[in-house]
Amino acid sequence: MAKWHQLRKRIHLLCFLVFLALPFCDVVRFDIPQQRFYFFGYELWINEFGIIFFALMFLMFVVIVASMVFGRIYCGYLCPQMIFSEASAWLQLQLRRWLKHRGRGAPWLAGAAFYGALAVASVILAFIFIAYFVPPVDLARRLATLDVHTAAGVCGASVTLITFLDLAFVRLRFCTTVCPYGYLQGMLSDGNTLLVHYRDEGHTCIECKKCVRDCPMNIDIRTSPFQIECVHCGECIDSCETILGRLRKPGLIHYSWGVEGQSRFPLDAKRAILSLVVAFYACGLFAALSMRHAVLVRIAPDRATLYRTGPDGRIYNHFRYTIANRSHQPAAVVFSTQRLPGAAMALAANPVRVKAGETVQGEFDISMPPARHGEFVTHFNLLTSTIPDPVTETFPMTFISPTEAQ
Ligand code: SF4
Ligand code: SF4
Repeated sequence: MAKWHQLRKRIHLLCFLVFLALPFCDVVRFDIPQQRFYFFGYELWINEFGIIFFALMFLMFVVIVASMVFGRIYCGYLCPQMIFSEASAWLQLQLRRWLKHRGRGAPWLAGAAFYGALAVASVILAFIFIAYFVPPVDLARRLATLDVHTAAGVCGASVTLITFLDLAFVRLRFCTTVCPYGYLQGMLSDGNTLLVHYRDEGHTCIECKKCVRDCPMNIDIRTSPFQIECVHCGECIDSCETILGRLRKPGLIHYSWGVEGQSRFPLDAKRAILSLVVAFYACGLFAALSMRHAVLVRIAPDRATLYRTGPDGRIYNHFRYTIANRSHQPAAVVFSTQRLPGAAMALAANPVRVKAGETVQGEFDISMPPARHGEFVTHFNLLTSTIPDPVTETFPMTFISPTEAQ
């Protein structure tokens, strides 16, 4: 009968595996030293603000819509604090039972075994957590040398200590005291949000209080479905169905959409609009990612001097470029001009080669023969072709000449 409990434990295991895998697969990771944001296979640079903005807005609206529709399901089923707190309590209980079974039930021994195991688990969990912000290889090197001198080392040691104290002494008290999500949920929910709801029109409650004893948050769901401590885990639903099932009666506690006890998902205007907003950000994010070029080229004219006349009599204009290779393979960029007859490009090397992950800056001149009746401003295009990506970009530019023929 413990269907919600079993479902929750399976989801907890899946979440733990996902939490473990994400930083190592670069699915979602914010690399602070490299200033890179990894998002589902894309390596975004910190200057790609537009895409990062869309990604963060998309995730934020997913959280808002999920909270409004499903209430605190995240807390009960997906939250790492809940998952690791329950795992810590389970480990403590299992160790105590195991030692007692072997005739070593002294409290100090059970305590020492638990805190020892928790210390090891805290190092592993802190390592995984920090790997979301620091490359795992770099982190492993720091851990191997017991680095507690640099800022990253002190940060790692602090997170380990906080994790240990949290899982040893705080656990689910965090949810009702510090965590802001529970308070935020109160603002996001409405009359159709998913609830854990007690209904007993037939007065069949036998006051066994098993729902209270099994509640991880130590509350009585019968007093109100809107208690801030309730994380919608569904343990009390299993408890009541187990007890009343023995009397061949249905349970009195259920998941329901709102206090009216609707069993069907309500699709009102608010949910429809928010779903459209999520879809909008998802489309924007998809479009921004698909239009993204792995090699970013920026070119700007240097107008500190409009032009200069060389010893060869030609007119020179000066330009600067920046090339950022955001891919994992070397790239080369070929420069050329269009609609500028007689132009010559003075570039140290053309193509410009850029290593993977490297940003290079440089400058070059474009020269033209002096025009007898030339224009002061000639509009032309600078073209860049990227290798190996077959991307050609066009940069509209102007060439400045003396106003009178020389
Ligand atoms: S009242 Fe029920 S759903 Fe809420 S936290 Fe307790 S056991 Fe979970
Ligand atoms: S488990 Fe069910 S029957 Fe027992 S006290 Fe709770 S609501 Fe009443």
